Amino acid sequence: MSAALQSTELRVKARDAFFIGGKWQKPLGKGVLNVISPVTEQVIMTFPEASPEDVDRAVAAARDAFDNGPWPRMSVEERSRYLLDVAERLKARHPELAEAWTTQVGAPISFTRYASWQPAELFEYYGNLIKTYPIVDERRRDNGDLVRVVREPVGVVAAITPWNAPLVLLCYKAAAALAAGCTVVAKPSPETPIDAYLLAECIEAAGLPPGVFNVIPAGRETGDYLIRHPGIDKISFTGSTAAGRHIAAVAAERLTRASFELGGKSAAIVMEDADVGQVLQSLVPFSMPITGQVCFSLTRVLVPESRKQEVLDAYVGAVQQVKVGDPHDPATQMGPLTMERQLKRVQGYIAKGREEGAKLVVGGGRPKGFERGYFVEPTVFSDVDTKMTIAQEEIFGPVVSFIAYKDVDDAVRKANDTIYGLHGAVYTADAERGYEMARRMRSGSVTVNGMIVDPKMPFGGFKQSGIGREGGIEGLELYFEVKTVYFA
Ligand code: NAD
Repeated sequence: MSAALQSTELRVKARDAFFIGGKWQKPLGKGVLNVISPVTEQVIMTFPEASPEDVDRAVAAARDAFDNGPWPRMSVEERSRYLLDVAERLKARHPELAEAWTTQVGAPISFTRYASWQPAELFEYYGNLIKTYPIVDERRRDNGDLVRVVREPVGVVAAITPWNAPLVLLCYKAAAALAAGCTVVAKPSPETPIDAYLLAECIEAAGLPPGVFNVIPAGRETGDYLIRHPGIDKISFTGSTAAGRHIAAVAAERLTRASFELGGKSAAIVMEDADVGQVLQSLVPFSMPITGQVCFSLTRVLVPESRKQEVLDAYVGAVQQVKVGDPHDPATQMGPLTMERQLKRVQGYIAKGREEGAKLVVGGGRPKGFERGYFVEPTVFSDVDTKMTIAQEEIFGPVVSFIAYKDVDDAVRKANDTIYGLHGAVYTADAERGYEMARRMRSGSVTVNGMIVDPKMPFGGFKQSGIGREGGIEGLELYFEVKTVYFA
């Protein structure tokens, strides 16, 4: 990475400790996590990796804070004040949040500067929502007797998050869980621990009671220990569908509450009457955001037979203009992939696409002038059949498949021909027709003529893209148990 382009210094208070029980505590294990620059491939920071003993300590602290501490029992107004204070502190550290995202993940700084307001927005949103949410609902039985249906916090939450949008995804969980009155043990991804430390510092500075929020970065072995821990009441997981299946099976054994935000293979249906200029505006950036490493990326483009060449040519022309480069350069639109295993994975899928007979229209290799770093060219395949591996599996890289359809029914069938169902788009001159198409798509959200994911609205998956919804009121309700109180 050209050091000259790195503008903000990353200051993490305690890089040799975990945030447990309101204190920075030295690790009990010896594991080390290396943060590797995706541009230089060099180790840029190290953090301790949590061991099972560290998990025990973090869960014990969260358990004590939930069972005996003030957090679940304080008034919603008081909890709200704490959350709004955290939001202000996240805003004040906005440049560092953007810097952490770009440095670890390789996401362009122009994008992270814009998207790094979301963590504060989420704390503000849930901090305000909890003040008006009907925690106690008074109802009447048929005989007129009073019943109170109460929402109570579900307990100690294990929040497990991936590396692609580390802080935003953690804040979806942490802000909603804390607002509900839960306590949290956060296990961020081993590749991107910095953001969770920054959040812990904001939470510490806001003075939340000890044990309410704890951070123990680690890999999947320690994560596996955490999800099996008897002190955990709820698992909130964001990550791959493969890991989600495993965690769901573990949760089923103890009937631990669990919600899942998993992988995607989202389709963009371009209708006969779509305006190609309008299509490109959102399709180009959102078919490959963060080098395609976003769960809702529109990676399958469904085009009518009659317009397939026109739309493909326009899209490929635009993709060729995407500026690939150092993610710290404000002019860069696409940085590298985040890690070596991502590069290997994406190269493997590109090879598979060729092997199975898809036509490589553009990209497929390393961009010129980038001998180092996990760079890959934006890649487009046409003549893709829905049965091909590249049309079925989540690549998690900048690889887009063009699939032709015969008529509207064929478009819907092809859009739904996947185990996933996270997001989708429909492009058409007739918004109501777009809405009808959206209703036929088996996915958790659909945007007509663009790409919108608003954290104040529910987001999540149909089918194997997840269980439950994060964001919006639904995101808060993930962290409640319902209790019915009768008066005999
Ligand atoms: P991953 O499943 O490998 O890991 C995600 C997290 O789970 C990491 O913290 C990892 O350490 C942990 N983990 C893995 N196995 C575990 C286990 N057995 N027990 C406990 N913890 C375990 O996924 P990834 O490669 O980090 O992230 C990419 C995936 O995340 C993609 O599939 C992407 O679509 C998905 N994702 C989904 C959403 C969404 O909102 N639906 C958002 C972002 C990313």
